[in-house]
Amino acid sequence: MRWGYDDGMDLAARLIELLGATRVHTHPIDRLIYAKDSGVSSGDPAIVVLPETTEEVAAIVRMAAGADMPIVARGAGTGLAGGAVPASGSVLVVLTRMNAIYDVDEIGRTAWVGPGVINLDLSDALVDQDLHFAPDPSSQQSSTIGGNVGTNAGGPHCLAEGSTIAHVLGVEIVTVDGDIMVLGGAAPDPPGYDLRGLIVGSEGTLGIVTRVLVRLTENPPDVVTMLISFDGIGDAARTVSDIIGSGLVPAALEMMDGPMIEAVENFVHAGLPVGAGAVLLAEVVGHPAGIAAEADLIREIAVANAATDIRTATDEDERALLWKGRKSAFGAVAQAAPDYYLNDTVVPRTRFVEVLDEICAIADRYDLRLLNVFHAGDGNFHPLISFDASEQGMSEKVVAASHEMVHAAIAAGGTLSGEHGIGIEKRDLMSRVFSVDDLDAQARVREAFDPEGLLNPGKILPEGSRCFDRPAT
Ligand SMILES: Cc1cc2nc3c(=O)[nH]c(=O)nc-3n(C[C@H](O)[C@H](O)[C@H](O)COP(=O)(O)OP(=O)(O)OC[C@H]3O[C@@H](n4cnc5c(N)ncnc54)[C@H](O)[C@@H]3O)c2cc1C
Repeated sequence: MRWGYDDGMDLAARLIELLGATRVHTHPIDRLIYAKDSGVSSGDPAIVVLPETTEEVAAIVRMAAGADMPIVARGAGTGLAGGAVPASGSVLVVLTRMNAIYDVDEIGRTAWVGPGVINLDLSDALVDQDLHFAPDPSSQQSSTIGGNVGTNAGGPHCLAEGSTIAHVLGVEIVTVDGDIMVLGGAAPDPPGYDLRGLIVGSEGTLGIVTRVLVRLTENPPDVVTMLISFDGIGDAARTVSDIIGSGLVPAALEMMDGPMIEAVENFVHAGLPVGAGAVLLAEVVGHPAGIAAEADLIREIAVANAATDIRTATDEDERALLWKGRKSAFGAVAQAAPDYYLNDTVVPRTRFVEVLDEICAIADRYDLRLLNVFHAGDGNFHPLISFDASEQGMSEKVVAASHEMVHAAIAAGGTLSGEHGIGIEKRDLMSRVFSVDDLDAQARVREAFDPEGLLNPGKILPEGSRCFDRPAT
């Protein structure tokens, strides 16, 4: 249903009446602040609103849809694929004020949380209960649970625990008609279609998430964290393959190449081995007796693959410093140039070295500075190009090189995105991995939720994804 108004008030005035002037922004400077996420694209919302309740979100959506305006959900704007970039003339719904944590169930290990809760704040709030929210994107100090749901975020510890979808039991959403629905719930294996699963990773195109029922994970009794150095990235990659091939799934298995080690060490001073070709950050968690054996197995495999040094964190401070190094990788590259473009692909672990060689050759051919950091355990590859966007033609060059890198990963049996989503930036590459019929099926699902395409238009699906939209040939 669409809503019509005839009292002469424009939408901004109506929204101010609903939310008050401090939570509705139309000034160009305010709109500029929200024009982009952490990727390279930008847009221009007509109105930025900051609701505090589900009912406010529902009222905003009804008003915006009644005025036929696109509606874009935004969390913290740390997304790297342009998912929260506002369509021109849209109403941008910023959910950061909806940041309450309700109904923590220590026994059932669940909690309802607002979409604006910051990922790390949730785990910090649960310290006394010895619980945490397992998905830990490197942006966890600023990204929101709503954004994590929107992108199905991953993180270093998702290797063993699974990405966000494995930790979301239910969602409350506001539909494009302004209806409020709860999908999924605490009961195991609820009957009917798994609409909760459809919402996770839908990047704000099916509804606006206003509450999330999260699964909480017990803090492990013990942890061993190791930093393993290698002369060459091939030795590190073979170590990863052999560890996973042995049947062991560590809690985390992260890799950085030589240029990234140097940038991070210069930034964080975590004692990383500058001059090494690659390092692995490997972590095992669990009961002390079990993880000692697992750590020994990892050391054995690393030595067999020519590891040059293995350092085990001796206390929590040392462990935290090593993780600070890994999680500061993207910030560290700002030392070299003001901008970076972070690629996010997945490649089969056995083809790491081959694809990496190809990616380095692409960067050389375009004369670009490349640094690499990987969630190596699950094959998630993050070639990062550091550049200065103010240089004429540079952004276009970076995007062209990045597309070639994605193609190289796909050609090796990989895929478009490991965790950052599709957004605008990979939308036009979707046809590389999906057939015409696949895209049509996805477009039909989207249409079932949003027949007029008002929710985050221009994201995920390339134009013409519906078969009947395509010009006859
Ligand atoms: C330094 C850095 C490190 C990063 N590391 C990782 C990493 O390790 N793993 C990883 O997966 N990502 C990582 N990211 C990317 C980013 O942090 C994640 O994609 C994160 O989940 C986005 O959360 P956000 O709150 O910033 O969402 P936003 O960027 O604001 O939005 C992301 C998408 O979700 C949608 N959305 C947001 N809120 C809602 C809602 N309430 N309802 C419906 N849709 C919504 C938006 O429309 C958009 O499509 C990193 C980013 C940076 C800058």
